[in-house]
Parts: sequence; C-alpha cells; structure tokens
Amino acid sequence: MFVRVLRGVVALALIGIAAPAWSQAPHQHGHGTVNIAFEGNRLVIELHAPGADIVGFERPPQTPTEEAALARAVAQLKAPLELFGLPAAARCVVGDVQVTAEGYDVPVLAAPPGGTHTEFEAAYALTCADAGAIRVISFPLFDRFAGAEEFDVTVLTERGPTEYEVTRASPRLDRGSLLWRWLTGR
Ligand SMILES: [Zn+2]
Repeated sequence: MFVRVLRGVVALALIGIAAPAWSQAPHQHGHGTVNIAFEGNRLVIELHAPGADIVGFERPPQTPTEEAALARAVAQLKAPLELFGLPAAARCVVGDVQVTAEGYDVPVLAAPPGGTHTEFEAAYALTCADAGAIRVISFPLFDRFAGAEEFDVTVLTERGPTEYEVTRASPRLDRGSLLWRWLTGR
C-alpha cells in the first residue's frame, strides 16, 4: 500500500499529473492539507489550501493589487523551504516544484450559484542528505498566509501514514524520537 500511495504522490510531484482535486465542492476556509512522504532520503511534500487562506479572495483578481497578491502568493508557494521548516541537519535541497492556482481564471459571470471557490495546490520534491534528521517540522507558512488557520498533515513513511494537525497557535509537528517512533510504529 505504501509503495502504491507513494508512487501516486511522487508521480503527482514529478510528472505533474493533474489530479482532479479541485471541484466546486465547498472546502472549509482556514483548513488545508499537507502530505509529506518519505522515501529514503527523498521527500515529497504536497500542499492543498483554499484560495481564501492564501490570498484572501476566491475569484479572478479584479485590481492590480489583487493581481500582485496572486502573483506574490504563487512566488511564495514556489519556495518550500520558507514554508516548511526542516532541520538544517537534514540538508534538504529542493528539486521539482509545481504550483497551481485553481479557479483564478474562471470568469465571475460563469460562477455557479453560491459563489466560487478556488484552491492552491503545490507539490515539492526534495532530496535530503539525512532525512532521518527530520523529526520536527515547523510551519512558517502561517506567517506568509494570513488566512491559513489549520492544516491536517499526513506523514507517510514505509511504516504507513501518521496524521498530525498543525495550527496557527501550534505551527509545529513533532515526530518524536527514533525510540518513540519504533515503539509506536510511527
Ligand atoms: Zn472557498
């Protein structure tokens, strides 16, 4: 199962297969998801967040200010090491980066009843000299994106997935010590 899921994640990151992740289904503003997959010293991070959380509006930009905000958000999303705080000892280097702003080019007149929703998706492939050093991950992305309140984080390793929650008040994920991880299977 691990291999299959990880392959899916890696494929999304590296090949850029357009996952049908965006839909008109309302998401919950303030709440996003992050998937972090470890495969040896390779790391794939996926981020999904409502547009409201990242730029504060969920429709095409209508002013130069909004256009600038959208461009700035995409640029910020392309710098994963400024969004996810990885221990320096891991010595991670960013490889492929994919950022998608979904729904920002949909004419407002075409908006469905109930309004539009937009989402940001990003996928990052990293290579780390010592991925085992990544026990704690901080989330400075809360400092970048004022609308983000919470992320459900899934950490995927060969031992399976582990769920975490990080919030603006507690923007830190602690995977515990190696012994703890061995005892708990995390
Ligand atoms: Zn929305």
